[in-house]
Amino acid sequence: PTVPSSTSTSPRPYARVPIELGDRSYEIRIAPGLLDEPDTWAGLPRASTALIVTNDIVAPLYLARLRQQLSGVYSRVETLVLPDGEAQKSWESLDRIMDHLLAATADRKTVLFALGGGVIGDLTGFAAAIYMRGVPFVQVPTTLLAQVDSSVGGKTAINHPRGKNMVGAFYQPARVVADLDTLDTLPARELSAGLAEVIKYGPIADAAFLDWIEQNLSALMARDKQALAYAVQRSCEIKAWVVGQDERESGLRAILNFGHTFGHAIETGMGYGRWLHGEAVGCGMVLASDLSARLGLVPTAFVERMKRLIRAAGLPVVAPALGLDRYLELMQIDKKNEGGDIRFVVIEGLGKAGVRSAPTELIAEVLATHCDP
Ligand code: NAD
Ligand code: MG
Repeated sequence: PTVPSSTSTSPRPYARVPIELGDRSYEIRIAPGLLDEPDTWAGLPRASTALIVTNDIVAPLYLARLRQQLSGVYSRVETLVLPDGEAQKSWESLDRIMDHLLAATADRKTVLFALGGGVIGDLTGFAAAIYMRGVPFVQVPTTLLAQVDSSVGGKTAINHPRGKNMVGAFYQPARVVADLDTLDTLPARELSAGLAEVIKYGPIADAAFLDWIEQNLSALMARDKQALAYAVQRSCEIKAWVVGQDERESGLRAILNFGHTFGHAIETGMGYGRWLHGEAVGCGMVLASDLSARLGLVPTAFVERMKRLIRAAGLPVVAPALGLDRYLELMQIDKKNEGGDIRFVVIEGLGKAGVRSAPTELIAEVLATHCDP
């Protein structure tokens, strides 16, 4: 099956991606300037109270503007500004949100707004899923990663000291508002990390999109709004299509983890926070592409092609020298594994991915080729 092609012909960098999930259907709006347009905030679930959850990096940049728009819609707009960082996907932060809502006597119609990157989105989405057994929430993703990945698909979670994303729920937002202008303030490293997930969607689902990304990479790096609009739109369409085939992750959804088996090993092996997730995934895609070639699924030219693109996106293409045994150990923990075999997402032809195990000799060859000597 192939992902339906894009229908947008608008000359303005403006797109809407409808997510069809019956009575949980919603819309992803993608454009510059959305934050300040009253229409963006029209037609949301009615309530007397809204709570904006954000962090201390994003708040000085965008909170006042969102707050101003929402005060035209809700009679009371509460705000909660958390510290920045992955550590906020915690029971403590969840409790702060619950406490804020209860102290403000927020009722079961209260609408939560997640203003920030994937950390704020995952945490706020989970809070919305459990407050009074579920209140509506709106994603306002302000990182490229959040716009193309974490705000689509309905996964919400906090971390447990024993594992990342171990406590959570599937819970869909009422709307996703991806204002491309917010990406102007994103650090370059974070932009590149988001591009890794954009690049991922090409080889796994849409060969033409991979061509398009190559042709438009410098525009994307320069944060050109027209280019970003299409990149975000197509990424959301592909993720939504894959998730729509497999909402609760039984099989197909695994292809979204292309580059992630090697990537997680790099991320964990280097110690959390040294490499950004997207950086590890970028490098992981080089390794997974090479593994695909060594399994005879794609020509070796594909590996060079991916490496060139990933490097041009400002991402690392040389993996850290952790040693074969350590890599194997780290990859053994991966959720995709069944019966001890390490399972990799591989490219089985441009625009088509599958999940397979691989002989240890081939994994060793891949690591020997791409690791720092
Ligand atoms: P993040 O939320 O930590 O944001 C990255 C950094 O950018 C932070 O310092 C943040 O404060 C800052 N920032 C955010 N917007 C900004 C802006 N417009 N200008 C300047 N700085 C800005 O990280 P992320 O990469 O957005 O998301 C990562 C999280 O997403 C992880 O916790 C991961 O588990 C989760 N995730 C979830 C899903 C899902 O399906 N739910 C998918 C992928 C990732
Ligand atoms: Mg990822």
